[in-house]
Amino acid sequence: MAPRSRRRRHKKPLSSVAPVVVTPPTVVTPVPLTLSKPGPSIDTLGFFSLENNVPGLSQLILQKLNMKSYEEYKLVLDGGTPVSGFGFRCPQEMFQKMEDTFRFCAYCRALPSGLSDSKVLRHCKRCRNVYYCGPECQRSDWPAHRRVCQELRLVAVDRLMEWLLVTGDFVLPSGPWSWLTEVVQGWDTWFSMQRLQLDSTLDAVLNSQAMTTLWASAGRPRPDPHVLQGSLKRLLTDALSRPLTLGFGLRALGINVGKVGGSTVHVVGASHAETFLTRPGDYDELGYMFPGHLGLRVILVGIDVAAGFSQSTSASLLEPGTVQLSGHRGLYHDFWEEQVETGQIAHPDLVVAFHPGFHASSDLMESWLPTLLLLRDYEIPTMITVYSNQELTASLQILVDLDMHITAYGANPFASLKPEQVYSNPNKQPVYCSAYYIMFLGSSCQLDKRQLEEKVDGEDPRKYQSTSQRTD
Ligand SMILES: [Zn+2]
Ligand SMILES: [Zn+2]
Repeated sequence: MAPRSRRRRHKKPLSSVAPVVVTPPTVVTPVPLTLSKPGPSIDTLGFFSLENNVPGLSQLILQKLNMKSYEEYKLVLDGGTPVSGFGFRCPQEMFQKMEDTFRFCAYCRALPSGLSDSKVLRHCKRCRNVYYCGPECQRSDWPAHRRVCQELRLVAVDRLMEWLLVTGDFVLPSGPWSWLTEVVQGWDTWFSMQRLQLDSTLDAVLNSQAMTTLWASAGRPRPDPHVLQGSLKRLLTDALSRPLTLGFGLRALGINVGKVGGSTVHVVGASHAETFLTRPGDYDELGYMFPGHLGLRVILVGIDVAAGFSQSTSASLLEPGTVQLSGHRGLYHDFWEEQVETGQIAHPDLVVAFHPGFHASSDLMESWLPTLLLLRDYEIPTMITVYSNQELTASLQILVDLDMHITAYGANPFASLKPEQVYSNPNKQPVYCSAYYIMFLGSSCQLDKRQLEEKVDGEDPRKYQSTSQRTD
């Protein structure tokens, strides 16, 4: 099955500082015999693997553009002089560089540099997201591409629109929920509740100067307003998916957020992408989900937590109604020993891992194992998210093998609605961040023991039933 073959292909642990580099997917796409030279090295172009974990578009772009901070970025956009080594000088160049990372023939993998003089890469007219070196490759690729072309059309718009979030020109609507929180069980009800405020926010963004600049620089025509509005909404779900998924976990696991001094959520395996683009107020939505809460502390822990992300503070008591977001750079089991066990950092009421991806390779599994066993043996309520149904199945199997007591799993009502493309293999079905969740608590062995004790102590109803049936 696919997860097993993936396990063999991906050697590098994702949790290492260097991003996972994908091998050219020649397994999937047959290379035409006419191609005498060895295949293009997609690695050198900076394509990262999305096959075992989606790294987030932002990280790819930030590295590609050698962008170190918002300040630098804003400076360039405002016409200032970038510091040396900065990736671009004007918005046009930035979007050009972004687009370059997508420029290779989706069928034969030819790069612009590998084409003969008469040939040039042209994008698919429908989605504007994949490129072909010629009509033959496009025709040969169509049976595979047709399944994803429409979805990739959204990807091509979203990846440009994402800049408005990065620059702060698209500020997410925020404020206490006007509906009873029990009513808001997913995006449908969330959007209905926010409709009025959202409409004016989206209108303002659509008519903003930033939007005009973006499409004047993007090198493609500006799509219709309803297309842009749809994109803004998807980006919004992408940004709010994390805090609302945490809230969903707290709700589903029945965790009390009325604890004096605050309740604590640890987010394990947090990456650079999750923390670099996260601002202090980004988790406020979690607070609105629990009106009257007595403080919520979210601590992002991972070796890739962005430098400069606010470091985790002491286990001091929180004021009621505050949401405190902080980060800690390091491995979770070290963090546990040094910070949690010593009482310096609050013990978690819930632990969440967004896309741990441990099903994808044995190396990744190895790096996750100490954390998983710790969570199991200390009986910490835990939730993980995955990108696809296939990953859900593979991850469940691993957790069952580890004797985890699975309490729930399924589709996440607050999954991101923004499709994520597999860069190296654009014809692969796009995935969605946190599309599915798995919750577990302690070990299934211990539970079995407890059940056994209950059965010994009390009457086993089945036994009773069978006896009574026999007497009848
Ligand atoms: Zn080609
Ligand atoms: Zn297409």
